[in-house]
Amino acid sequence: MTATQDEQRKESDMKNLALQKRELELNQRKQDFPALQQLIHGKPLVYLDSAASSQKPQVVLDALARYYSESHANVHRGVHTLSERATLAYEKTREHVRQFINAAQVQEIIFVSGATEAINVVARSYGDQFFQQEDEILLSMMEHHSNIVPWQQLCERTGARLRVIPLTAQGEIDQSAYPQLLTSRTKLLAITHASNVLGTINPIKEMTALAHAKNIPVLVDGAQAFGHLLLDVRDLDCDFYVLSSHKAYGPTGVGVLYGKKALLDKMPPYKGGGGMIETVSFDKTTYASLPYKFEAGTPNIADVVGFQATLEYLHEVGIGNIYEHEQNVLAYALEKLSVIPGLDLLGNAAHRLGVISFELENIHPHDLGTILDQEGIAIRVGHHCAMPLMEHLGVPATARASIGLYNTRADIDALVEGIHRAKRFFK
Ligand code: PMP
Repeated sequence: MTATQDEQRKESDMKNLALQKRELELNQRKQDFPALQQLIHGKPLVYLDSAASSQKPQVVLDALARYYSESHANVHRGVHTLSERATLAYEKTREHVRQFINAAQVQEIIFVSGATEAINVVARSYGDQFFQQEDEILLSMMEHHSNIVPWQQLCERTGARLRVIPLTAQGEIDQSAYPQLLTSRTKLLAITHASNVLGTINPIKEMTALAHAKNIPVLVDGAQAFGHLLLDVRDLDCDFYVLSSHKAYGPTGVGVLYGKKALLDKMPPYKGGGGMIETVSFDKTTYASLPYKFEAGTPNIADVVGFQATLEYLHEVGIGNIYEHEQNVLAYALEKLSVIPGLDLLGNAAHRLGVISFELENIHPHDLGTILDQEGIAIRVGHHCAMPLMEHLGVPATARASIGLYNTRADIDALVEGIHRAKRFFK
């Protein structure tokens, strides 16, 4: 062996060692999640349904309990200590979200109940203001109902129309069809960052640049990407980005609408009530500035505060480490699942997340899901709120295993064993 070869071998060993160490550390992360320590039907829980909703680490549960025990009062209103504490904690999360997604200004971060509400805010406020008959909203074939129905409702109100970008056989957006669908009629591209069925990660930056070249704004549905991918809304240059806390180890009932300030400034409030006004008289109301204009009524203070603990947790583990770990578990899962006779994997994108949809010959996904549950294994079955995509794939439902930061290769082994058991059962 030459000196150079020896050097290369040493370097590769070091890299492997570092990888193994990181995987071990992430495997131990399971301990951070109390819900993952329980038995289901007498078996250790194997949770492979994080794409629907993830489990919560103890630090988030503690933050929620601490908030209610020590700091709860209404925000933005009181002069007393508890109200100041609650307001500070609530606003601290907003600043942390800004940093996390690299937004330019804190006014661009609006708290909503989730990705669904965020899209509805844009459809109602931006859409009702700026869309008219014959305008087009461009979506892709892989959208979740949350990024279809609000636009369809907008079309019903305004006479605008939906256009749909097709997919390739691999389950990627057809990039040759896309540019032709950007026309003078297109008023918005609304597209998912990652598919909740196929796992496909879309080239948002490139697609946004093409849309912007024709002055078309872009909304990105980040429900599946947040917590798995490093996010930088300024680098992506999208005009709106929406996400939900609960899919990334945070509390339910909290989401974020990010929007470029210049656009949000032009948009009327979506809901009226306390907290979103500057002055009110029976003749006229003037509205508060951003972001409060879009946060009518008492917000979900506790869960926003809990979300702060989530962001700290994600920061501590590191999104880069999470991505690498999930990619390793994904590669292992694809390798093991692809050799099971009668199992068909749906989608084969080059760049994808740990969301794996499959079909099993002669076994309905619901039956598979029920049998796996008896083994303590939680997967999702059904249409995954993506019925147009199901129709395109020619299936009524799929089984879906999705990977979070706490999943390990052992979880995949359990899934594979469970699938074999189901096959024996239905033979
Ligand atoms: N978009 C995608 C791609 C999703 O996977 C989901 C949740 N399944 C949503 C939007 C909606 O998220 P939420 O229910 O948290 O509003």
